[in-house]
Amino acid sequence: MEISPTRKKELSKLADFVSGLFSSGGVTQLDKIVAFEGLELYIDHYEDCFDGMLVYGEEQFHIHLNIDRRNDITTARGRYSLSHELGHYYINEHRIGLQTGELEPHTSFSEADKNDLIELEADYFAGCLLMPYQKIFYYDGVRKFSLDKIKGIASTFKVSLLAAAIRYCEVCIHELMIVVSENNTVKWYERNDHFPKWPFRFKVHGPLPPTTVAGEYFTKANSRFETVEKVKPDDWFHPFPDDYRAERTMNEQCFYSDGFGYVISLLWFN
Ligand SMILES: [Zn+2]
Repeated sequence: MEISPTRKKELSKLADFVSGLFSSGGVTQLDKIVAFEGLELYIDHYEDCFDGMLVYGEEQFHIHLNIDRRNDITTARGRYSLSHELGHYYINEHRIGLQTGELEPHTSFSEADKNDLIELEADYFAGCLLMPYQKIFYYDGVRKFSLDKIKGIASTFKVSLLAAAIRYCEVCIHELMIVVSENNTVKWYERNDHFPKWPFRFKVHGPLPPTTVAGEYFTKANSRFETVEKVKPDDWFHPFPDDYRAERTMNEQCFYSDGFGYVISLLWFN
């Protein structure tokens, strides 16, 4: 399931408007948004039940953040979860749905169900709210692209590396693709419009191609490479015949999230 380009524009505009009112430097001030909207925020222990939740009751909206899953107003994860809930609040269809009871209050997890459009929309809004288009487009902490640029964005905007990578991939003007894997299995990917639409040598939920940096990390001893590695497009893809773009060297750089067990591969060209 995917959000249409028109809808993305709407959500991005809405988020830009809100972040424009409440930001200091690069950072969107979520606490000010919560106060301005008169939302009740509860940061409490909810075990493993959810990351965030927006509930309508007694003519008011209440946002719950689960500190047991490290959601706090200061953590990158908490900021993302809170922005996601603010998405449900600001997006008319979601808010009205919750008010009228047409939409069941639901728990949100930081890893959204990719088949749930409501969740995808709130996630998209969250990325836009935390990393407004203009600011991320002109972000130039590190000129040349590499994982360092994503790390710079993550620290500037106080977001997770994954959130930074997804947002940058969407906004940037060069060919970029992200593949997230776990236990040598592809979990999901994001490919921006600039990247060649070559068929993959992998399937979502299937194994990684063996000659990729991420693939070797899972299958070969002592192959955890954190630097920019040169790979061939046909390590990852089946490039179209006679496509000159396939002659170029492709870069792959991996980020290993030891705490969560996943690996992010960034794929791009020079
Ligand atoms: Zn949600």
